[in-house]
Amino acid sequence: MSLGMQMKIALVTGITGQDGTYLARLLLGKGYSVYGTPRSAEGPHLWRLRELDILEHPRLHLVPGGLDDMELLRRLLREISPDEVYNFAATSFVPVTPGQLETMTSATGVGPLRLLEAIRETNPGIKFFQAGSSEMFGRVDTAPQNENTPFHPRNPYGAAKLYAYWNTVIYRETHGIFACNGILFNHESPLRDELFVTRKITRAFAAMRCGSDSLLELGNLDSRRDWGYAPEYMEAVWRMMQGKEPDCYVLASGRTSSVRDFVELAAKAVDMELVWEGIGEKEVGRDNRTGTVRVRVNPAFYRPCERVELVGDAGKAGRLLDWKASTPLEDICRNMVEMDFNRLQKSA
Ligand code: GDP
Repeated sequence: MSLGMQMKIALVTGITGQDGTYLARLLLGKGYSVYGTPRSAEGPHLWRLRELDILEHPRLHLVPGGLDDMELLRRLLREISPDEVYNFAATSFVPVTPGQLETMTSATGVGPLRLLEAIRETNPGIKFFQAGSSEMFGRVDTAPQNENTPFHPRNPYGAAKLYAYWNTVIYRETHGIFACNGILFNHESPLRDELFVTRKITRAFAAMRCGSDSLLELGNLDSRRDWGYAPEYMEAVWRMMQGKEPDCYVLASGRTSSVRDFVELAAKAVDMELVWEGIGEKEVGRDNRTGTVRVRVNPAFYRPCERVELVGDAGKAGRLLDWKASTPLEDICRNMVEMDFNRLQKSA
């Protein structure tokens, strides 16, 4: 850093989530002061920040409080005076009850609008990043999907993300705010929530490696996803915000794999060779060496409305940000299994 150069300040919402944590680490590494707004300043939800060893970082500041209060938001922006705001605050699941619908819509849809409006009122020079999702594409009829693919969300979560996407465009076009949209396809890591299928799988195989005789029950093994590596995606997010012009970028790996493929990679990571037997609901995965059944299909985990296979085209990010997803799924999976194994060893 050259003498006299101002250290940048960033506000990262959703800082306790997978993406927020990786982004915070990346920004701290670049010399930023990073502010986050967790639910509270202590508690188990800070485990990711703890695990990456940045919770006690002198340039990390946690300001507990909600983002649903405009007055608080304005005050926060005035007080910390950020150069860049990264919005990762959202619920990551498709809601099932009316109560969850309200919470999801407020956090995922209206939250970004409040931030944009607070930026416009306090200092329109603040840059803004909105984390969008491949769920915005929903029922597409073209593949792969890029920045020009028409949106057609198929659930209120996708629609809420789209509402935030359009508000980001609106504040850019009508108020001149440097506001970027990322459209992120699935991205995994050891910090992924356990409710996602990848973490569910890596935890199970890590436990087996520790000697557990547990059986992993899964839904649709043939479902396919475009799975990338979360830390890499955060590098792209940061580059977007350093660009000349605010823009929209798809971030994706460009390849899809099935749940079954991922299970096989996880087995391989613990030196197990799985053989599949049976079909449909009767399918099982057996440890070839011992004959033990390790994986079973349980229809309880089937999705009532499985989404269309989505695969992203990150060519624009390649051309303009010099970015591409480069970590192979095998390495992502191995890394996740290793981390789950270490955690289990530590807690034992
Ligand atoms: P998302 O649906 O892309 O947000 O990510 P998930 O990780 O929750 O699900 C990925 C895919 O895995 C979906 O198509 C599921 O149908 C499939 N899947 C199969 N078994 C399971 C399971 O036990 N849990 C979850 N979460 N997904 C499963």
